[in-house]
Amino acid sequence: MPGPAHIRLLSDEVINKIAAGEVVDRPASVLKELLENALDAGATRVTVEIVAGGRKMIAVSDDGGGMDRDDALLSIERHATSKIRDVDDIEDVATLGFRGEALAAIAAVSQFTLTTRTAAAEGGTEITVAGGKIRDVRDEGCPAGTRVQVRNLFFNVPARRKFLRSEQTELSHVRQVFLLYALSHPAVGLALRVDEREVWRLAAGATLNDRLLELFGPGTISQLRPVDFRAGELWLHGYAGIPSLSRGDRSDQYFFINGRPAGAPLLHFALSEAYHTLLPRGRYPVLYLFLELPPGQVDVNVHPAKKEVRFRNTGAVRDAVIEGLRRALGTTPAAPEAAPIHPLASVAPPAEAWLPAIRRDQPPAFAYPRLPMAPAEGEAPAPGPSGSPAAAPAAGPWAWCRVLGQVGGLYVVMETPDGVVLMDPHAAHERVLFERFMKEVTAHRVNSQGLLAPETVALLPQDARRVREQLDLLRDMGFGLSEFGADTFLVDALPVCLGNVSAAALLAEVADTLERAGARGGTERWAEEAVAQASCKAAVKARDQLAPEEIEELVRALAATGMPYTCPHGRPTVIFMSFGELHRKFGRA
Ligand code: ADP
Ligand code: MG
Repeated sequence: MPGPAHIRLLSDEVINKIAAGEVVDRPASVLKELLENALDAGATRVTVEIVAGGRKMIAVSDDGGGMDRDDALLSIERHATSKIRDVDDIEDVATLGFRGEALAAIAAVSQFTLTTRTAAAEGGTEITVAGGKIRDVRDEGCPAGTRVQVRNLFFNVPARRKFLRSEQTELSHVRQVFLLYALSHPAVGLALRVDEREVWRLAAGATLNDRLLELFGPGTISQLRPVDFRAGELWLHGYAGIPSLSRGDRSDQYFFINGRPAGAPLLHFALSEAYHTLLPRGRYPVLYLFLELPPGQVDVNVHPAKKEVRFRNTGAVRDAVIEGLRRALGTTPAAPEAAPIHPLASVAPPAEAWLPAIRRDQPPAFAYPRLPMAPAEGEAPAPGPSGSPAAAPAAGPWAWCRVLGQVGGLYVVMETPDGVVLMDPHAAHERVLFERFMKEVTAHRVNSQGLLAPETVALLPQDARRVREQLDLLRDMGFGLSEFGADTFLVDALPVCLGNVSAAALLAEVADTLERAGARGGTERWAEEAVAQASCKAAVKARDQLAPEEIEELVRALAATGMPYTCPHGRPTVIFMSFGELHRKFGRA
C-alpha cells in the first residue's frame, strides 16, 4: 500500500493552464470523484453508502494510504493535489485525478466530513466543513484509510438543488458510476449500500471475467466474445457482445481508456464499422472494452469530468478497434497466434469435428454445434476455471437438431434438446454466402466460373460509370467483365460460390450498391457492401421450398460461419425459444 503522498499547491500559471470546469453537478459526479480518490490512494476495499439517491448522503470509505493532518487540511483547498506538479505532468498522468479541485468543490456545496488516518499514524484526523467553511478539526480514532461523507449536497445553492432529479433517477446515475469503477478496477473489493441496504458486495482480487459474471450473470456472459488485440503500442481487450445481445441504445457500452471510464466520438464510428454487417440500424452492441496506450498518446484533459478523451493518432486507434472487434466476432479470420482459444468461441469448430456425427433418425436429426445463445432455463453455465467468463456445457441446446419442416412457405422449424428454433433460410444463406465470398475476396482467391454463354448487360448510365470505376474490384470479386460499348458490359465469368444466378441481375445489383456506398468511401467497405448485395441476390429466395437435405446443409453451413446469428444486413437468421420459456408461457412451474 503506498504511503501518504505529500500535497503541494499548484502555481497560478499551472492552474490557468488546466481547464477548469464544473466538477460537481449531481450525486453521481460526487461519487465519481470520491471513488477516483479512493482508487488513486491505492485502496483494495471501498464501501459506498447512499441515502435518498445521494441527495441526503453520499459516503465513500477506503483502506488506501490515508492522509496526515496537514495533508488532510490541504486536500480541501482548491487546486491542492499530490498527483501532479506541473502542467507537463498531465501528459503522462497515471492517476484518475490530477486537478486538485474535487474535494474543494464538493466541500463548498455540502456538509462535508473527512476522516482519515495513515497506516503509520496512531490516531486520525476528522475535518468538518459546511459550505466551504471549516467548522471543526479534531483527532479521531479511525481505521487506516479515508472516509468522506457528503451530506445535503447543494444545501447552500438552492438553484442547483432544484435541478436534482427524483431519488430514483439520481440513484440510477449513482449505480451507473459504481458499475463503471467496479468494471475498471475488478481487483478492488467494492460494496454499495443504498438506504442502509447492501445492494452489491463485489469480491476483492477479482478478474474482469469474475466481475462481469458477478454483475451481469451467466446469461449475458455466454453472449460475449473475448477481445484481445495488439497493434503497436495499442492493446484492446475485454469483451464484445454477439449480435443477439444488442440494445436499442448505447447504455451497455463500456469503454475504459488506460483504466479510466471514457468515451470518444471516434469509438462510436469504429464500433459501427466493426458491427456493420452484424446489426441493423438503431441496434447497438454490448461492449466492455479496455484500450491501453502510452499516456502521452491520449489527452484526458479535454472534458471537465474527464468523460471524453482525444487521441494523438486517431487513425491507429480506430483501426485497432475495428480489427480487434472483427477478429473477436469472427468476421475477419484471425492470424493464428492472435486467435484466443475460448470456450465461448466454439461457434465454428473445424467442420470435421461434427460433420460425421449425423443421426439419421426419422425425421432426420443431425449433429449441430452449440450456438452460444441465451442459455436455457436452469442451465446457467458455470464460471469457467481458467479466466474465461463461463464455459459452455458440452451438450448444450444445440448439440443436435431435428428439422420439422417449413411453415408459412418460409421459416424452417427445428427442435433442439432445449427448445425450438425458427430459421429464415434466405437470411441464413445470405450469411453463409457472405462469409465464404468475403473470405475469398480478402484473400484475393475468388474462384471464378466461366459462362458457357457470355451475357451482355446494359446498365443505367450512373451504374455503368460505377462499374467502370470499380472494374478492378469487380474482377477481384470474380466477375469476368469487359466493356462492350456505351453502357453495356460483357460478362463471361461469375464467382463460383454464388452458384446459379443471372449475371445481368447480379451486376446491376452490385453496381447499384457501389453507387449508393460511394459516399461512404473506402474500398473495403465497398467490397463488403457489394459482396453483401451479391450474396443477397444469390441466396435462396425466401419462398423457395427446400428439400430436407438442403435445409440440413444450410444449417450446417450456417453453424460453421463466424457470425451465424444475423444476415449481412443485420437481420436475424435464427430465433430460439427455450422450453423453459414455453413452459413459462403455458404457466407450467
Ligand atoms: P485530485 O484527485 O485531482 O488530486 P482532489 O480534490 O480530488 O484532487 O483531492 C485532493 C488531494 O487529496 C489528492 O491529490 C490526494 O492527495 C488527497 N486525497 C483525496 N482523497 C483521498 C483519499 N481517499 N485517500 C487519500 N488521499 C486523498
Ligand atoms: Mg480527485
